[in-house]
Amino acid sequence: MIEEYDIAIFGGGISGFSTALRLQSKGFKTIVFESHGQLGGCAGFFTKKNFSFDVGATTLVDFVNDGVGGNFFKDIGLELPKGEYIEYIAWLPDRQVILYRDFEKWNKERLEKLGSTDKHIKFWNLMDKVTKVFWNASRDNIKLPIRSPKDLYIVLKTIGIQNLYLVKYLNSTMLDILKKFNLEKDKPLIGLLSMLIEDTVHSSIDKAPFINSALGTTIRGAGLMRADGGMKNFWNYLSTHYLKIGGTLKKGYRVIGFKQEEANWSITTNKGVFKSKKIISSLPIDLTYNICPSSIKNKLQPFIAKNEKYQGSAIVVFLGIPESEISNQTFKHHQILLDYETKLGNGNNMFISISAKDDNISAPSGFCSVMLSTHCELSEWQNLSETEYQIKKQNIGQKLIETARIVYPRLGENAVIYEVGTPLTYQKFTKRTNGSVGGFKQTLKNANFNAVPQDIGIKNFWLAGDNTWPGLGTVAGLISGRIASEYAEK
Ligand SMILES: Cc1cc2nc3c(=O)[nH]c(=O)nc-3n(C[C@H](O)[C@H](O)[C@H](O)COP(=O)(O)OP(=O)(O)OC[C@H]3O[C@@H](n4cnc5c(N)ncnc54)[C@H](O)[C@@H]3O)c2cc1C
Repeated sequence: MIEEYDIAIFGGGISGFSTALRLQSKGFKTIVFESHGQLGGCAGFFTKKNFSFDVGATTLVDFVNDGVGGNFFKDIGLELPKGEYIEYIAWLPDRQVILYRDFEKWNKERLEKLGSTDKHIKFWNLMDKVTKVFWNASRDNIKLPIRSPKDLYIVLKTIGIQNLYLVKYLNSTMLDILKKFNLEKDKPLIGLLSMLIEDTVHSSIDKAPFINSALGTTIRGAGLMRADGGMKNFWNYLSTHYLKIGGTLKKGYRVIGFKQEEANWSITTNKGVFKSKKIISSLPIDLTYNICPSSIKNKLQPFIAKNEKYQGSAIVVFLGIPESEISNQTFKHHQILLDYETKLGNGNNMFISISAKDDNISAPSGFCSVMLSTHCELSEWQNLSETEYQIKKQNIGQKLIETARIVYPRLGENAVIYEVGTPLTYQKFTKRTNGSVGGFKQTLKNANFNAVPQDIGIKNFWLAGDNTWPGLGTVAGLISGRIASEYAEK
């Protein structure tokens, strides 16, 4: 007897699983297929000895009451998970800038460390205005690209008539705006913005859309949280609730094909066939393409072609170390830029994230888990022999540790765990093609009105995930999941 569901969700990462939680809590009979043995995808975790490491995302964005994360938990009737809100130090080649969460402190810091001329003040005033309006719109159910008159109405309503003049910036890059204020040669300001933009929008100041960049560079203000117990605890919290409210979770089930059969979709997995009235695929769009019928392939093809060149990946070093190696600093998160002139990535722009002192899920007492992450290009890791791969992996691992020693001079001296994750690691564990992680690098050509929509015009089938609008990160996972679930509820 083939099992039948209202809505099947492909992928148990943050996008797919949040979608399933929303729909299950509204009374739909849902099922999640996750190919890996555990949930989380690029925001997942792995354990080794008594340590647990966040494999990709270490921080959850806008996880505050009335924020995107807060609204999600309110919608599913669960309390926000507990965690520490993060402020961190940006280590520029010639100065340190503390990225405070509190707006007044951040305002003072940016003027003191990055310049307080009229042009700086006017630039920050515009940034503040744009981020306030568009963060509110993100929390208030904005939907892009516009697919119907109703979507247009929602966009107008969430932005507000009085702020509509800001929409003109949808066609500007960050560099356009810096030029407007004659700040395009201001190295420290550009250095800081570039590292934050690469980290959040995966793009550069000359290509990243201004509004997306402004949102990306202010995620701390919105509420950047590392959950107590890291991603391991976070996923345990979510999955316990999903099972409690009757959801069906199939871990280790890889979807290999699906097709329409009368009123249902028939879904073939490596472990059997299932039926569902509706489907939401939260897989990257090229993975959905590989398993979908030709009607969906035709719709996805143009989006895949458009975004092919906007993909990138990451390298992460995981260390289990004694706490004494990090006792010289109060902040547990840092971002380092080594050089203003060199291309970002491969250590030049590296994020350090360390588990909290009392977090005994991430590390045994007296120890902590450390994640050092940086961006890289996919092409650098393709077509390597096994020996070349191992050498490259060791070299970049050592480079990241050396870079982190700018902040923690003794880091890794007595590491009990040392692992390096590369694009090939992501490919293996999340199935992402060539290890392409995060969403697409955002440009004027593929973001916002040009982004991949959740509704591609196929009956009873929708997309979610960081390949769809708004793209990138956990906040995008929650927003895309909200939009897809609203379609599926009808
Ligand atoms: C190093 C790094 C650091 C990051 N840091 C942050 C951060 O601090 N904050 C933040 O917000 N974001 C961060 N991100 C980005 C964030 O992790 C991702 O954008 C987000 O987790 C993507 O979630 P997703 O659900 O869209 O996709 P995925 O996490 O890729 O989920 C898709 C799931 O589908 C499964 N799957 C694949 N194929 C199949 C199939 N055929 N059948 C069934 N299941 C399948 C995969 O195993 C996977 O679990 C980071 C990413 C990386 C790599």
